[in-house]
Amino acid sequence: MNSPRGVVVLGATGSVGRQALQVVAAFPERFRLAGVAARSSVETMAEIVEQYRPPRVIMGDGAAAAALRQRCGTGFALENGEEALCALAAEPQAEIVVAAMAGQAGLLPLWAALGTARRVALANKEALVMAGAALMARARANGAEIRPVDSEHAAIHQLLRAVRREEIRRLVLTASGGPFLDLPPERLASVGVSEALRHPRWSMGPKVSIDSATLMNKGFEIIEAHWLFDLPEERIGVLIHPQSVVHGMLELRDGSTLAQLGPPDMRLSIAWALAGPERLPLDRLDSSPPLPVALSRLDFSPGEETRFPALGLCRKALRRGGGAPAALAAADEAAVEAFREGHLPFARILPLLADAMARLPELAGETLEDALRAGREGRRLAEDFLSREGGPA
Ligand code: MG
Repeated sequence: MNSPRGVVVLGATGSVGRQALQVVAAFPERFRLAGVAARSSVETMAEIVEQYRPPRVIMGDGAAAAALRQRCGTGFALENGEEALCALAAEPQAEIVVAAMAGQAGLLPLWAALGTARRVALANKEALVMAGAALMARARANGAEIRPVDSEHAAIHQLLRAVRREEIRRLVLTASGGPFLDLPPERLASVGVSEALRHPRWSMGPKVSIDSATLMNKGFEIIEAHWLFDLPEERIGVLIHPQSVVHGMLELRDGSTLAQLGPPDMRLSIAWALAGPERLPLDRLDSSPPLPVALSRLDFSPGEETRFPALGLCRKALRRGGGAPAALAAADEAAVEAFREGHLPFARILPLLADAMARLPELAGETLEDALRAGREGRRLAEDFLSREGGPA
């Protein structure tokens, strides 16, 4: 057997990061943890250091690093800051980088990780939404492979093994519909943060949970699928599927459809991203291994843009191209922050984004710098909306 492959986990204290650590630790004959990074969660990182003994740890800033050193003592290399984070992402020891930092903060480390031929298990969809053209070009140029961790895209990635590209008519991403699928629209205005965080099927971090409640998450996944699978927007469909059992489908030229089914457990797609095409025996996970799906009932309904405006916004940004998706992603990040801080009602998130898109000038989106510039413009437009609506800018 080959020696274990070095794995670096960026965003280790988040939901996907911690689940990735579980999978890595359960297969020591395959994987060796080479390093972890997180921004500010000292307590969770201390638990990770004690449990998984990573040789190298990066924290977001000096204060967090000092607090971790005090809590955990010595015995591991500890650095802090963006430069150290990008150096860890580019670490030659790491054959696999799990990119699980949320939002724009994950963009530069991902860029660093794609600098050499290695596998990147990508959970940070915002990075791909913002800078898809530049990131895909960089991966191609350096022989790096991007494997999606997002469950829908991991499903498509698995299904693609069974068909030839020219046989595909359309791919379909499923959406649970989030916690407010059946809520009357007038109730949406008074929805609180804790309700928006309570996803009916998946246990996820706060940003993606709120994006799931607005359906922006699914919209971003359309853009993510466009870059990962090189299909135009009109060949990427969305179906609302509340049970979250079917994660992705391929509609084929002959009229048949292939689907991937599984329990709503991110560790399945993490394991696929780390080890696929091999299937890891996840029943080895000591804490609650994934159970087979209960196939009692599967419901599907169309993901219509009239009912789910977030899908329309993202489709429009993708068709418009250039810096529009980056600006939309950054405006969404600002809107979600404002909602979590109580400065923006839930029902105003999508109007903010529609307003930002309507006022967005034409922007380039080819390079990393283009994406960052478009992101700044998106955030500026979001802050402008917030100040007009009376919240602090
Ligand atoms: Mg997803």
